[in-house]
Amino acid sequence: MLVLEPQHVHMHQHAGDKAEALQCLINILVEDQLVTPEYLSGLEAREQQSATYLGQGIAIPHGTPQSREYILKTGVRLAHFPEGVVWDGENTIYLAVVIAAKSDEHLQVLQILTRALSKDVNEQVKSAQSSEQIIEILQAQPHSLVLHENLIQTDTFVEDIEDFFWNASKLLKQQKLVDPGFISQLDPQNTIQIQDDLWSISGTGYVKQPAVSIVKAQQPLTFQGSTIKTLICIAANEQLDTDQFNRLMDVLFQPQVQQQLETEQSSNEIAKLVGAETIPDWPSRSIVLANAHGLHARPATQMVNLTKTFNGDIQVSVDGGSFVSAKSLTKLLSLGCQRGQMLTFIAEPNTDATDALEQIILAVRQGLGEEVEAIEDQLTSNSSLNGSQLIEETDSVEISHCGIAASAGLAFGPAHIIKPKKFNYDRFGQSLKTEKEKLEIAIHTVKNTIHQFIAKSTSKDIKQIFLAHLEMLDDPDLIKQVHQGLNHNLSAAAAWHEHIEKAAKAQEGLKDKLLAERAADLRDIGDKVLAVLCNEPEVEEPEQSYILIMHDVGPGDVARLNKDRVAGILTAVGGSSAHSAIVARALGIPAVVGAGDGVLNIDPHAVVLINGDNGEFEVNPSAELIENAIREREYQRLRREEAERHAHEPAITVDQHQIEIAANVGKILDTAKAVSHGAEAIGLLRTELVFMSHNSAPDEKVQEKDYRHVLDALAGRPLVVRTLDVGGDKPLPYLPIATEENPFLGLRGIRLTLRRPNLLRQQLIALLKAADNRPLRIMFPMVGRVEEWRAARAILDEVLQQYPCSNLEVGIMIEVPSAALLAPILAKEVDFFSIGTNDLTQYTMAIDRGHPILSAEADGLHPSILLLIDQTVRAAHANNKWVGICGELAADPKAVPVLMGLGVDELSMSITSIPLVKAQIRTLNYAACQELAQKALLCDSATAVRTLVE
Ligand code: PEP
Ligand code: MG
Repeated sequence: MLVLEPQHVHMHQHAGDKAEALQCLINILVEDQLVTPEYLSGLEAREQQSATYLGQGIAIPHGTPQSREYILKTGVRLAHFPEGVVWDGENTIYLAVVIAAKSDEHLQVLQILTRALSKDVNEQVKSAQSSEQIIEILQAQPHSLVLHENLIQTDTFVEDIEDFFWNASKLLKQQKLVDPGFISQLDPQNTIQIQDDLWSISGTGYVKQPAVSIVKAQQPLTFQGSTIKTLICIAANEQLDTDQFNRLMDVLFQPQVQQQLETEQSSNEIAKLVGAETIPDWPSRSIVLANAHGLHARPATQMVNLTKTFNGDIQVSVDGGSFVSAKSLTKLLSLGCQRGQMLTFIAEPNTDATDALEQIILAVRQGLGEEVEAIEDQLTSNSSLNGSQLIEETDSVEISHCGIAASAGLAFGPAHIIKPKKFNYDRFGQSLKTEKEKLEIAIHTVKNTIHQFIAKSTSKDIKQIFLAHLEMLDDPDLIKQVHQGLNHNLSAAAAWHEHIEKAAKAQEGLKDKLLAERAADLRDIGDKVLAVLCNEPEVEEPEQSYILIMHDVGPGDVARLNKDRVAGILTAVGGSSAHSAIVARALGIPAVVGAGDGVLNIDPHAVVLINGDNGEFEVNPSAELIENAIREREYQRLRREEAERHAHEPAITVDQHQIEIAANVGKILDTAKAVSHGAEAIGLLRTELVFMSHNSAPDEKVQEKDYRHVLDALAGRPLVVRTLDVGGDKPLPYLPIATEENPFLGLRGIRLTLRRPNLLRQQLIALLKAADNRPLRIMFPMVGRVEEWRAARAILDEVLQQYPCSNLEVGIMIEVPSAALLAPILAKEVDFFSIGTNDLTQYTMAIDRGHPILSAEADGLHPSILLLIDQTVRAAHANNKWVGICGELAADPKAVPVLMGLGVDELSMSITSIPLVKAQIRTLNYAACQELAQKALLCDSATAVRTLVE
């Protein structure tokens, strides 16, 4: 990191002109062994391009990128010229800050300098007497207080004061005004009531820049014997502009402001009310900066030169932060924009500036005078489908180029964007009787529509979801809760909406992803009823086949829309196990989910191409890309059909090595489907999902019946059953577990069932009774210590005495690194290992498998995981035991040859993957896979392994 230090300031320098000054600077740099003398040519060339005068008597000479080869070490030196040096014909400098930077570290220096330049320091710089004084002038932080529209949030759903804190801190964090620990210091005891339901809280730790965020709740909350509806959150440090802060507080203490705050709903209006900066509602364009060294002086100068040719105001922000004038060099530099960050330009309407937007975007794309490696090209080289609409978007600052692959296949078509509905309704109703009637009619209407969907639907999965929706609408508890709201004089719409939102929030709060994602179902039915109550028309569907773009797609949305017209689905939120994803898969519609809110800002006339296999998408793809996609889609269809024709043939490599292909199932009824898709066994029966299909804990009898069903459907094929893997992250409603700080590291899997031995015993008995001498394999999940395995085995041995089983193997899941490392010991005692790569990757790489941002980095092909698999396989084979893989990696086409080469004996995967993986294995050569696997073990990253496989 470059820092400005007094010992690097050279006072009392003299130069007759700029050339002499540059020579003087080079002498300093050479003497300090930062550069070789040739760097002078770089400084001169740079000055030729455009003078490096920054303002306030300061210049920042630095070499061209080509002259970087003369830099020995990155550094910065300062020279004070008390008599001044004419720098660019009209401006005289007194201080030169010469930079020798191998990469873009100089942006930090520029940011420091531009902060100083926001004040009038010319005279101070000129008359400075000591190096300390110079540094003090440059580093003096101007006092400030950031408060703008983006820091105000209205209509926020909050349930307690912590929710207020969380939302307020999030706003500050998003704008990079505070560091992540900021919220930790906010204590409800320190809140101060400003007036009525307006409160404030402040924190001084983790503050990067003084700022204020404002959160207004949907409804007032009872708090400390009073109510709170709006929270002012102050992030203060010694740079706080106290004058501005006092002005803000004066405003907030005015009684009429409190009243206006109560009625104002938009953040823009509240911003105006409290004197915060507002974001003009001007035409905007966004683009990702591709310049390797960020928006440093030269490209910034080019931008200023361009924007100044227009009369209208043009402003720019980085990654959704504050807007600054795009005509001011110092303001542009103060943004510190780096490659990959999003610049958003706004232009004053009804002026020539609006025409400027096109030109500015073009200039930025062309590199602002620098050669740029387009971010687009980089993405393309990493992927088959160019997923980089990032390079240019309208009205969007948040579009991410890649979401989560949720349903396989390629699709393209015009964007059909359905934005979250905003319902308008009166908070209070007419009379209890009328509101109750309205609610009843609305629920009845929705139920009728759902019945029609069920009648029309050909997919069993979708029917089941709709049946669940009907059940939700019939839930007496739900109706009772809404009636409570009606009893408090709320309108039917208000009571319904508030309760549904509360219930959905509670559902979302569940740590188990599967259960949490059911919140979408609640909101789905919630919106349907609300739409009837508020008389909201349904959105019209386009005539031709389109890409449906939504915040989240409720199952009802997909099914209601014409399947033949929904070519693909792209959502802002959601995970691959969300119901929308399940429905999309059931209908065979390619889907990319969780792509960020920016997708809702895609131009409604744009064509969108999505790749449901890797989660990438492209806005306005080239004709060539579409042609490729059509070819690829046809190829995929033929390949799948061909693979399905041979699904029942074994998976044998060309050099005659056979591997068992099994299915992962969570629903007992799926067993038959697995067999019909070519499964040679069930390699993982997730019994916790079987449990979840029952409303109360299934007793031994019910369990036995379920397991019997699976074994019957398998007709002699082996069944690998995993004992209950519930715990903090996968709660069963009827198995309460205390809340844990880190559920993934808490009471889970075998750790839980060993503490509830009766539960385990009952499950084991049900399994043994159902087996009837058919091939049964029992395995214990989440084993991390040898003692756990032995304790579980002891319970099984005890049960076996009463319920002997002739065709039983007992093993463990390898999902915890400690178990993989102890495989040589465990292999002596178990009959088999089944490696759960989902959890093994999570625990090895310390990345939450459901993390919205990081989970993509948790790649099971990381060499660290492969080394653990290798160790496990070696240990098992040395003891004549077999090893399966039952995590998602087993069906990853790039992983299949590597896993085979490592010697695993079985691959267990989702049913639909079976035919394709079998077909792939038939094209592989086992000896080559072994060689490949050995090379993969030596790679340094998952990317390297994937490249190797390619
Ligand atoms: C795994 O962790 O890889 C696994 C198969 O178990 P689950 O995904 O059910 O946790
Ligand atoms: Mg697991």
